Amino acid sequence: MLAFEPVKGSGVYLEDAAGRRVLDLYGGHAVAALGYAHPKLTEALVTQLETLQFQSNLVPMAVRDRAADALADFAPAGLDRVFFVNSGAEANENALKIALKLTGRPKVVAIEHAFHGRTAGAAAVTWGAKTSWYGYPQTPMEVEFVPRDDIEALNAAVDERTGAVIIEPVQGLAGAYDFKPEYLVAVREACSRQGAMMILDEVQTGMGRLGEPFGADLYDVVPDLLTTAKGLAGGLPAGAVIMLDDIAMELGPGDLATTFGGAPVACAAIEAVITVIREEGLIERVRECSAALRQQCGSSLVESFHGAGYLLGLRTTPKAAALRNALLERDILTGTSADPHVLRLLPPLVLEMNHVEAFVAALGELSDGTL
Ligand code: PLP
Repeated sequence: MLAFEPVKGSGVYLEDAAGRRVLDLYGGHAVAALGYAHPKLTEALVTQLETLQFQSNLVPMAVRDRAADALADFAPAGLDRVFFVNSGAEANENALKIALKLTGRPKVVAIEHAFHGRTAGAAAVTWGAKTSWYGYPQTPMEVEFVPRDDIEALNAAVDERTGAVIIEPVQGLAGAYDFKPEYLVAVREACSRQGAMMILDEVQTGMGRLGEPFGADLYDVVPDLLTTAKGLAGGLPAGAVIMLDDIAMELGPGDLATTFGGAPVACAAIEAVITVIREEGLIERVRECSAALRQQCGSSLVESFHGAGYLLGLRTTPKAAALRNALLERDILTGTSADPHVLRLLPPLVLEMNHVEAFVAALGELSDGTL
């Protein structure tokens, strides 16, 4: 736990009870897409809270339809059908279930160092889960892990028993590891060749974070199923499985269900998040500020960069945790990753150039050799 307790937030700043303001370059694990107290998000939430606070998906609701349409429109062409859930793990759990059920196959191919969540199916395809925190006696499906960027190993693993390959476009927790672009294309091709489904886990990378609506756009691949969560509702718990029309057509009543998924308050937030991303040109801003971060962060503390847009991994000479703590002392919040030498930046999409400059200045001050 960090030595800072925020009690409120505004824009890209958090504030504690004593009035200390901290620049947030971590966004609550990529959740605060619009930063804090964005007026349009707040207004949408208040309006929905005053109108209808809850009904399940037993009944039709215009706000849910609007959120689903907005999300399908934001997603790559072809991914037109949306099922709302409550978290990233739940989205992956459903995507895995759909792929295995519809293909009738028992095996999933996953990638070394991947993180997909802490529920049974999502954990089963998470690297290292068995030895560290995977608590179930057995996995609900067969899983084969393949090394990153090794197309030969991938093609050997994806066979006629494979129902799905699950992959993050940029591996978040692993330290913003970006694959060779041809690797994602190879995953698509291997799935198509063998009749398996490609699941793109965009729980962390989606909703504009990579400087494109989704990583699928950045790498020009269309998966069968795309999962997203985190920034989707700007801070409310929400996730989604976005799928090809053909897949949705094969699902019957009761195949997918949830009590809270698609609830009206979360849907009002989803609609507002997408509207603001479009109206404020946040995708373009992510690209510009991310490029500036890469250009200007050259310091004796930073050896190289990974990732894209606002999912950036800075490979640091000192331990990333030591640098994160020193930055927090200078009122800048950053994150670490599974790689002890990668500092992770997941700032709100509303970050501006002056915030980039503040970060660059702080790094400069810390480059005096004391770390
Ligand atoms: N998938 C990815 C790529 C993630 O980064 C995460 C969370 O960090 C998850 C899935 C799990 O999401 P949640 O914590 O909302 O269940």
